[in-house]
Amino acid sequence: MWLARRRRSCLGLLGAAVLTALWGCSAGKDTEQRPNGDRPLVVVTTGMVADIVRNLGGERVQIRQLMGGSVDPHLYKPTRNDVAQLMEADLVLYNGLMLEGKMVDTLEKLAEGRDGKRVLPLASSLSPDFLLAGSGHTDPHVWLDASTWANTIDVVLDELKRALPDCSGEFDDNAVQYRAKLAEIHRYGTERIATIPESSRVLITSHDAFRYFGRAYGIEVYGIQGLATDSEAGLQRINDLVNLIVQRKVPAIFVESTVSKDNINALIEGAQRQGHEVVVGGELFSDAIGQEGTYLGTYVGMLDHNITSITRSLGGDAPPRGMNNKLPVE
Ligand SMILES: [Zn+2]
Repeated sequence: MWLARRRRSCLGLLGAAVLTALWGCSAGKDTEQRPNGDRPLVVVTTGMVADIVRNLGGERVQIRQLMGGSVDPHLYKPTRNDVAQLMEADLVLYNGLMLEGKMVDTLEKLAEGRDGKRVLPLASSLSPDFLLAGSGHTDPHVWLDASTWANTIDVVLDELKRALPDCSGEFDDNAVQYRAKLAEIHRYGTERIATIPESSRVLITSHDAFRYFGRAYGIEVYGIQGLATDSEAGLQRINDLVNLIVQRKVPAIFVESTVSKDNINALIEGAQRQGHEVVVGGELFSDAIGQEGTYLGTYVGMLDHNITSITRSLGGDAPPRGMNNKLPVE
C-alpha cells in the first residue's frame, strides 16, 4: 500500500512524467494512490540489509538506512527522526534475531500497526537449520556467512515484487546477479582461509560475532565478549584466551569497527608477559559495513576486507587488495 499522505515536494508534475518514462515499469495498480508517481520508501536498519535492497531494487526504490558504519546495532536506540522515518516507510526490513536489541519494541509495534505496513526481519526468516544457538537466544550474526545470508535474498525479492509487480522481471534478474556475487565471495572465503596454516587458523575478536563466519570458512573462532556487546568480558575469559594465543602461537588478533579495543589490548599485554608477541591483524567489520559509496560500504567489499585481512595476518595467501583488487592499500 503506497500512501498518498507522503510528501514529495522535489517532484513536480514534470518530474513525475520524466520518472515514469525513465523507469519503465510503473507502480502497477497502486499508481493512482501515489500522486507523484514516487518510488516506494524502504527503511532498513543495517548496511547489510541496505545492500540487498540496493542491488535488487536499484533506482526503483528509495532506501533509508538508520544505522551507519560505526554504529553498534546491539546498543542502538531509535531516535525520534528514526521513528518518523519508520512511520513514513512503505516497507521496513531489518536483521532480527535480537541484533537490533533496543529497537525490537519499536519494530514490533510498527508491525502490529493498523496501516498494514510490511515490517520484516530477514535473518528470522531463515530455516532453523542455518542458525546457531547463542547463550539465551539465537546468534544474529548470519551475514558473516555469505552462503547463509544469500538465503535472505528471497524475502527482499518477494517484498519488492509485491510493491512494484510490473518490475518483477527486472528484480528477478538483479537477484540472479546478486546471488552470483555472494557465491563468488563465499568461494573466495573458503579458498583463502584454507591457505592459513592449520595451527594458526584461529580467529580472535572483540565480541562473538564470527561464529557463522567460522562455520562457513573453516576457522576456529573466539570472541572476548559474548554475542552482544553490552556484557563485560570476564577476567577468566581473558586469561583463557591469553593461554590459547601463547600455546597456539597465534600471530594476530582482530579489533572490530563497532566495538571498543580495550579487551584486545588486555590480550596483547597478557601474551607479552608470557613472552609471545601477538599483533592486531587489522580492524574487521562485524556488525556494520563501511561508508556508503565506497567498496567497503558494499556487502561484498566488507566480506572481502574481512577475509583478506584475516588470511594475510594469520599467514595465509590472499592478494593484498582482495578478490576484486578494490581494497584500499593499507
Ligand atoms: Zn554483534
